[in-house]
Amino acid sequence: MLPIGREQLAALVDFVDGLVLSEGCDHTLRHARSWAEGHDLDWTPVAAGLAELGGYCDCEVVMNCDPEDVFG
Ligand SMILES: [Zn+2]
Repeated sequence: MLPIGREQLAALVDFVDGLVLSEGCDHTLRHARSWAEGHDLDWTPVAAGLAELGGYCDCEVVMNCDPEDVFG
């Protein structure tokens, strides 16, 4: 289960979306990780939660981890 709330996920997806557009996706979660670490969150459970939602890399986070879908 994702260890962050709706507002945090929205902020994460916004951040990652901007960087995927400007820098592209290198098939890792580096942008998501940089957001989590910048917010003092433990990365491992965040990565596991994103993967559960189908977010295995930054562009998949943008496609699959929309907070509207995740939190209803
Ligand atoms: Zn990708």
